[in-house]
Amino acid sequence: MSSPDEDLTLQDTDRVTGRAALVGNARAALAVAAAVRSTLGPKGMDKMLIDQNGEVLITNDGATVLDTAKVEHPTAKLVIETSITQDRVARDGTTTSILILAELLRNALELSRSGLHPTIIADSYRSAYSMCMKEIDSIARPITSDEDVRYIVSTCIGQKIDSSMLDLVCMLALDASESIEVNDPEGERILVKRISLEEGAVTDTELVSAFVTRKQRFDKSMPNHGGSCSIAVIDGGLEVPELEFDAELEISSLGVREGFTQRKRKKLEGLVSHLESLGVGILAVRDGIDEEAQSMLRKAGINCFRRFDKEDLNRLSQITGAMIVRSIEVTESTHLGRCDSWKERKVSGVHYLHVVSNSGRGKTLLVRGSTPALRDEVVRTFDDALGVAVRVSGTAPMLPGGGSTWSHLARMLRNEASKYAGKRQLAVEGFADALETIPRVLAQNSGHDPIDRILELSAAQTKDGPWVGFDLMTDNLVSLDSIGIIDLRLVVENALSGATEGAISVLRIDDVLWAKVEPGEPDWNQDEDED
Ligand code: ADP
Ligand code: MG
Repeated sequence: MSSPDEDLTLQDTDRVTGRAALVGNARAALAVAAAVRSTLGPKGMDKMLIDQNGEVLITNDGATVLDTAKVEHPTAKLVIETSITQDRVARDGTTTSILILAELLRNALELSRSGLHPTIIADSYRSAYSMCMKEIDSIARPITSDEDVRYIVSTCIGQKIDSSMLDLVCMLALDASESIEVNDPEGERILVKRISLEEGAVTDTELVSAFVTRKQRFDKSMPNHGGSCSIAVIDGGLEVPELEFDAELEISSLGVREGFTQRKRKKLEGLVSHLESLGVGILAVRDGIDEEAQSMLRKAGINCFRRFDKEDLNRLSQITGAMIVRSIEVTESTHLGRCDSWKERKVSGVHYLHVVSNSGRGKTLLVRGSTPALRDEVVRTFDDALGVAVRVSGTAPMLPGGGSTWSHLARMLRNEASKYAGKRQLAVEGFADALETIPRVLAQNSGHDPIDRILELSAAQTKDGPWVGFDLMTDNLVSLDSIGIIDLRLVVENALSGATEGAISVLRIDDVLWAKVEPGEPDWNQDEDED
């Protein structure tokens, strides 16, 4: 009970305590799960999302659905956080993690109704989780061929993209992943650039072994391609600062002004000859280049590209081995990078610079397709595929897909549950039920009776082991590894840990304090004002 003092302190606060808090929290989690439930699996349905500006996006990617959702309830936000973490760490399994988390809470609610204390439920969930991690160890298999990696990637993106594009995106992602170290999220973004081109059909999408950026050379009379050369990457420009110019003009007279112009020229000459003495072939700068330096640069044979954004400067530095230097004055030969070749190419009237590094690092996905929405979809799917491809690591990274891993774990838990005393047994069974949601929803989404399916699957697995399961495209019971329905172990383990941790953190809450919102203008009024 709260004391009168506490009541006074909390007078501007709405308060929900005990089981009412759990009820509210579980409901919020289930509402989020309901929003993405129908997207799970290869036969998942699409959602049409319309943002405030009326932009329409059709997707069956759970993470994308939640990304655009406007959610108020703190527990709903926590559930979405879990899926964001899943996306960041494992790149796949976002819908799976949310569905399991919500079911864990639904079952916890049932268990608490039958008298189980939330701490006991949380404890039992934790033990069930540990048992699952041990079991996963015994069913996971090693990669035996390149084909296995392709299977993992295609199971991950299979349902997100038109089947005609599946093989292409899969191949491009595997190709791109070769230049990235395992588990290097920075590398995924920096070493593989994505560029959307308006020309061509989506099937013309290609991966080029070069860093490509939308840029035209500073001096059009210079060659538009070249061979191996040194590159200087400068986080500044080839300019004489205006401030210096203005300060000296205060004591202006014609002679002084001329003197200044000469000094400025001298300075530019000094900078260009410094670059020439270092043997720089290409100069890439973040800021501008003084027009006056053009003829000097031409004479020195230095081709220039300006106005690079920070990210492209970073990419260029990473792929050529150049160090990003603050200014030309302090540039030394050890700061320079090298490229094997470079060229400028025009596509639909836009100039693109291609730089091929001598280390083989750096690729660019040139996405083509008729509409921006289509190109975005290709990029999103490619991102997922690449994310999964670079995460294939470890000695046994493969698990059966199609819900078979979850069904196997649920059966194992039910067998083990009998070893637990009294009510803890119920909680372990509740955990098992939550895992079974995945094969259940996969069956539902492909138009089958979930109970029949689960029983059939369970019987088949008891007879032939955990690697048997349903191929939802043909509806046959198959040996999943032979036809390549494979989930990445990292994805499964992370979904399981995220869902368990999320559920436990909600179970520990028995008091929700909401600050009372001032009865002021509703939000939509502000929006209207802005319009
Ligand atoms: P998530 O956001 O959790 O990754 P998905 O919609 O991508 O959700 O669905 C993933 C599930 O679909 C995985 O369990 C995966 O094994 C399963 N799956 C993918 N392709 C098939 C298939 N052809 N047959 C059966 N299950 C499949
Ligand atoms: Mg997926």
